[in-house]
Amino acid sequence: MPADLFSEIEYLKGVGRARGEKYRKLRINSPYELIYHIPRAYLDFRAHVPVAQAVLNDYNVLKLTVFRKLPPQRVRGGLVICKAVASDGIDDILIVVYNNVYYFQALKEGSTYYMYGKVTGNFLRKEISSPVYISADQNVLIQPVYHLTQGLSVTMVRNSMRQALDIMHKEPFETLPPDVLRRYELCPLEEALENIHFPSSDMAAETARRRLAFDELLKLQLGMSLMKTRSRRSTAYKMDSSISISPFTEGLPFELTGDQKKAVGEIVGDLCRDVPMNRLLQGDVGSGKTAAAAAACYFTAKNGAQAALMAPTEILAVQHYNTLSGFLEPFGVKVCLLTGSMTAKKKAALREEIASGEADVIVGTHAIIQKDVEYKDLALVITDEQHRFGVAQRAALAEKGDSPHKLVMSATPIPRTLALIIYGDLDISAITELPAGRKPVNTYAVTGKLRSRAFGFVRQRLDEGRQAYVVCPMIEESESELFAVKTYAENAATGDLKGYTTALLHGKMSAAEKDRTMKKFRDGEIQVLICTTVVEVGVDVPNAAVMVIENAERFGLSQLHQLRGRVGRGQYESTCILITDNTSDDCVKRMKIMSSTSDGFRISEEDLKMRGPGDFFGSAQHGLPPLKIADIACNMELMNKAQNCARELLAADPELRKRENSALKMDVMRLFNKDIIG
Ligand code: ADP
Ligand code: MG
Repeated sequence: MPADLFSEIEYLKGVGRARGEKYRKLRINSPYELIYHIPRAYLDFRAHVPVAQAVLNDYNVLKLTVFRKLPPQRVRGGLVICKAVASDGIDDILIVVYNNVYYFQALKEGSTYYMYGKVTGNFLRKEISSPVYISADQNVLIQPVYHLTQGLSVTMVRNSMRQALDIMHKEPFETLPPDVLRRYELCPLEEALENIHFPSSDMAAETARRRLAFDELLKLQLGMSLMKTRSRRSTAYKMDSSISISPFTEGLPFELTGDQKKAVGEIVGDLCRDVPMNRLLQGDVGSGKTAAAAAACYFTAKNGAQAALMAPTEILAVQHYNTLSGFLEPFGVKVCLLTGSMTAKKKAALREEIASGEADVIVGTHAIIQKDVEYKDLALVITDEQHRFGVAQRAALAEKGDSPHKLVMSATPIPRTLALIIYGDLDISAITELPAGRKPVNTYAVTGKLRSRAFGFVRQRLDEGRQAYVVCPMIEESESELFAVKTYAENAATGDLKGYTTALLHGKMSAAEKDRTMKKFRDGEIQVLICTTVVEVGVDVPNAAVMVIENAERFGLSQLHQLRGRVGRGQYESTCILITDNTSDDCVKRMKIMSSTSDGFRISEEDLKMRGPGDFFGSAQHGLPPLKIADIACNMELMNKAQNCARELLAADPELRKRENSALKMDVMRLFNKDIIG
């Protein structure tokens, strides 16, 4: 049987059982998957230098003829050292290979090679150790470098790659329709796959990279949109638009802002249709998303159905439970809390309440989507701080109940262009205005020299009755010299914060410990919380009006913004002090942006500009399928183009059923978990 790209990887020459296993470790099962193993870098053998010009103690490319191979030397511990004398025609150099006789034997006396390796020695006597080499009569001088695993050498992978690409060339495939290639000025896939591995020039590699990155962004966008289309097909609990939410809004201790009203209107509108809602509620920290969510829960309960709210941490789940029961119980809406750390007995009782329909609103962590939790009539599912959950979890939650309406809340404002990709499967409501009377947090960036003055200020605010957060990047002291909460707390008790009650909060504490500490902080028994970024997400203590962030350089803009959002949540004037001794341009710029604006959408735009979209994709936090190339190679321009292209394709063929789109659709399904799109 002739091999094709989807044969087992072992089909390739030189790949036996053992190497096949190694490939599988890299998630490469077939030649097809191999050709999508994108090089992480290239070795450019064109850039060779004479031995005399090699930079000592650094990696160099040399063109060397092997004169004479010396007999292998065995030294203690079974180590074998092989040496050969070589020359570039003018100067001699010693090639040294450690522990790899096989590799050494492949070198032939009298032959010439390009070699890449670390050159050491001195003016008179030089050596190049364990060089990577190719024969000088090869015409491919730019060689790919791959992520490898123990037991797979780069030479081996290149060899397999060559074979896999040759199979592809026999029956080249193309996933994009010809007019897309033409209009978006993309090279054919066959060419891109060849050139991403074995480019003849930098230009060729770049063109290939652009094509492959475009593919990935396009697939991502299409996959998200197809998920949206699919969920639109199923029918959902259609609620009754004549039921009023006024009793709820009138019962609130405040008037909803315009944006909140608009968002609630959009949500209720969605709930009254028989296609499931799929909506993202975006809003800065403290913009009042929870109140909007509570309105949706109220509406659902009054429609006689159940709503579930899932939070990423126990701290948040407890907080939401408190808020929601405060808002809803006066109206006879029963709210219950279910978290992983509860006793089995308690959980069983709650499951009973959920199954019987006695519980109207169920708040909790992942515990609420476990298989053993059965709902009587789940019509609305809300997930908070959405970026902590992946696409797969979003899908798992949707499996509960009979295609429930879904609302996801995110406090990470994302520029619209990016939101359309990352949340391509969702409609978007945004709360951009903060509740009236909310004062922006005064933000200052200072160096460590001013630390004691900063703490003088902190003490003053504590004496006025306020509370404070001190954020450090680490939990425990390490070699890195970064501030760690544990040592910080010890020192603070005798130094800057002597006489004040402090407590620790970090991710290694048990959920119960964290909850106890948070409760004490909320109740005012603790004045200063010394914590890591666990407080980043959603914690709401209005009396906390000061935050000090140590090693501020360690945090990205969006993260700093999230952290800062923990203060300025009440009626008090609030302050955030960023302490850093880092004077790099990048850090200075970030500190300036933080001190000059509190607008989350603007900060995320700046973040996007500084870091590029790749960083957003690269970080696993959005739960997107893993991208191989777009995370390093994409830019805004390419992303916009891919977005346009997806829109055009779907406008003409909403579910990609046409023949010319079938290869593309298969590709999309391969990128996503197949059953998400189905
Ligand atoms: P988010 O979840 O968006 O971070 P929250 O819903 O926790 O914000 O709201 C932050 C605080 O603002 C809460 O204490 C909440 O009670 C209060 N709040 C919400 N909406 C309003 C409003 N329209 N007017 C005044 N305060 C509000
Ligand atoms: Mg919140």
